[in-house]
Amino acid sequence: MDLTLPAADLDWQRRAKVFAETVLFPQEEELELKGALPRATKDAMRAAVVQHGLAGINHAVEVGGQGCTQMQQMLISEELGKATGALWAVVWHPAVALKHGTAEQIRTYLTPSCRGERRACVAVTEPEAGSDPRRVRTRADRKGDRWVINGEKWFVTSGDEADYIIVHANAGGDPDQPTLFLVDKATPGVRIAREPKFTHTYVFGHPEFVFEDVEVGDDRVLGGVGQGLELTKDWFVEARLQIAANCLGAAIRALELANDWATRRVQFGRSIRDFQSIEFMLADMAVEIMAAKSMVYRVAWEIDRGVDRKVVHAHASAIKLYASEMAGRVTDKAVQIFGGRGYMRENPVERLNRDVRVDRIWEGTSEIQRVIVGGQLRRRGPGLFTGWTALPG
Ligand SMILES: Cc1cc2nc3c(=O)[nH]c(=O)nc-3n(C[C@H](O)[C@H](O)[C@H](O)COP(=O)(O)OP(=O)(O)OC[C@H]3O[C@@H](n4cnc5c(N)ncnc54)[C@H](O)[C@@H]3O)c2cc1C
Repeated sequence: MDLTLPAADLDWQRRAKVFAETVLFPQEEELELKGALPRATKDAMRAAVVQHGLAGINHAVEVGGQGCTQMQQMLISEELGKATGALWAVVWHPAVALKHGTAEQIRTYLTPSCRGERRACVAVTEPEAGSDPRRVRTRADRKGDRWVINGEKWFVTSGDEADYIIVHANAGGDPDQPTLFLVDKATPGVRIAREPKFTHTYVFGHPEFVFEDVEVGDDRVLGGVGQGLELTKDWFVEARLQIAANCLGAAIRALELANDWATRRVQFGRSIRDFQSIEFMLADMAVEIMAAKSMVYRVAWEIDRGVDRKVVHAHASAIKLYASEMAGRVTDKAVQIFGGRGYMRENPVERLNRDVRVDRIWEGTSEIQRVIVGGQLRRRGPGLFTGWTALPG
């Protein structure tokens, strides 16, 4: 068993680290204190993504991406996840569902999105439909040779920055016909109703959208009528992996800062790390990170070797669950080790602690991940999680 990372992977990791430290970290405090970054800064960061060769890391070279392996993507996301304010979102990941587009859709949407000329957001959640997508009410009805979309979508991440929306709507209002539509934001009938504030400071927004008699042609159906949930599943797997890697990065940065502080901070005539209560916290943080990293890299390795899609789906839930909860525990301990300073917004550990809270909610809550893992245990037995990976062929 060879667990060494090849030179090409280490090169991606190094590039992402340089990007995070030189492009993202310098913007953290302004973003936190002002709540948003100026347009010029966001444009400069977009140009920097291209300069650093990080544009479209999750898509093939033929469609304009970088053709990174899953392992390379995880290494990159881990480094970017160290940035607060969700600045990792500056590095776009065009939705994986776009791979299933027609040649024209790939030309019009995917390739420009890989290059950073266009940006997508994905709209599934609604006021009545969160964990349960069958409660989606947004519908797309036939009118001659057009589709007419009506409905409301919530929590649309980067919806303020995007210029098109991948909308999950039921064809003919039938929940058995979930379908994805590519909707340009400038289409008449599309509007942002509200831009709420959230616990974290996020480099972009999560606006709520309303669709009123929005007309699109058949050429804007992505992957076929009724294929919406199938395509969304792939998107969930990719997003869950990215979240797990981001959480790993956040936890590592929190440990590094806390470890350093525990050495420097003197109380009662000694470094606070000399108190066993502090040292044990540091030890638990290190061990939890080590466990999460082993899981995250293993699943990336499985994907790169073509392991069965159902296994990947189950394992993606397991690592999203574990890594997000681990990051919550680790960043909370980091705050504790810093004492009052850990509660100051100017301290990255305060921001990391707040930032990782959402990772237990979005792309499927922790409870939904447990439902998936539990269901797989019931159907396929514990070996899926307790055994080792069987490669195809
Ligand atoms: C900041 C942010 C950004 C987001 N970005 C996007 C986005 O870009 N696009 C998008 O479509 N959505 C997005 N979401 C929505 C997100 O995916 C949902 O919030 C999430 O899936 C949970 O849905 P809900 O909020 O409606 O909670 P609910 O589904 O109402 O759940 C409420 C509680 O009930 C629990 N629960 C529900 N069902 C079960 C069950 N079967 N078993 C056990 N417990 C259960 C949940 O775990 C949770 O604790 C975002 C959310 C946030 C907060």
